[in-house]
Amino acid sequence: MTDVPRIPLAGVIGSPVAHSRSPSLHGYWLRRYAIKGFYIPMDVGQADLKEALAVLPKLGFVGLNVTIPHKETILSLADIVTDRAALIGAANTLIFRKDGRVFADNTDGSGFIANLRQHAPGWAPSAGPAVVFGAGGAARAIVAALIEVGVPEIRVANRTRARAEALRSDFGAKIHVYDWVQSEMFLEGATTVVNTTALGMTGKPEFKVPMASLNPKALVTDLVYTPLRTAFLDQAEQAGCTVVDGLGMLLHQAAPGFERWFGTRPDVDAATRAAVLSS
Ligand code: NAP
Repeated sequence: MTDVPRIPLAGVIGSPVAHSRSPSLHGYWLRRYAIKGFYIPMDVGQADLKEALAVLPKLGFVGLNVTIPHKETILSLADIVTDRAALIGAANTLIFRKDGRVFADNTDGSGFIANLRQHAPGWAPSAGPAVVFGAGGAARAIVAALIEVGVPEIRVANRTRARAEALRSDFGAKIHVYDWVQSEMFLEGATTVVNTTALGMTGKPEFKVPMASLNPKALVTDLVYTPLRTAFLDQAEQAGCTVVDGLGMLLHQAAPGFERWFGTRPDVDAATRAAVLSS
């Protein structure tokens, strides 16, 4: 009998998962690089998560993306967790290794930085303080990444102050916690400004923070990408800032998983962006 290689399968697990752009992104890359493989969205509830991880590798799955609400709980089910995923407290990419072990990583932070490097090549992270709005799961990945690229100080403001305080105790003295109402003070002199909250997303309340003291030399970016151009980015652009939308982060965070599962490093370029936007 000839040894026919199995067609590699990957996918995204979450609940709900129908909104995910990952299937159209990975599907586009599979077609573009003529790779025999499939990427499948799977709505998996909390109660079935452990069983899914046990069964999927046996069915030919080589790995998964993990989305809400499993990004945190997946860590306790993985056999190997990278240092950065452990520090962030969440994973978004799993590799099913040939030895049967499940490897968990978090690529949100590297995707965030790659997006800024691509669309704002003049950005100098060490030039001054960063402001991070929000202290949820995504904020933890952004803070870890900003520290890694040498941002000297990170000012965090979150609706629930206790979550911002938790960031400070986990990430150390570079983190300074402020209240939303202090925006005039903490935006002063910041050279990187990031919205990591869900505010501004279609169906959510608008992001409303006084931005009069925004430095026109700052790079301003939003993790929200539906809509692509948020009111937060419009406001920053009107103030003279360089702005970068959040879609590129989604594309870049996906590239390492695709490479590990399917063996080709995909390009994150205008064609990729257009393919996802038109899906
Ligand atoms: P999360 O853990 O649920 O955190 C949500 C954050 O938004 C918290 O800081 C929360 O504040 C804040 N928030 C929500 N509703 C608010 C309101 N009405 N007023 C003030 N603050 C509010 O979610 P996450 O995983 O961090 O994701 C956050 C956003 O990033 C989402 O829009 C997500 O789609 C986006 N994201 C984008 C990418 C990308 O690739 N571009 C990747 C990951 C995430 P509290 O702590 O006070 O609740």
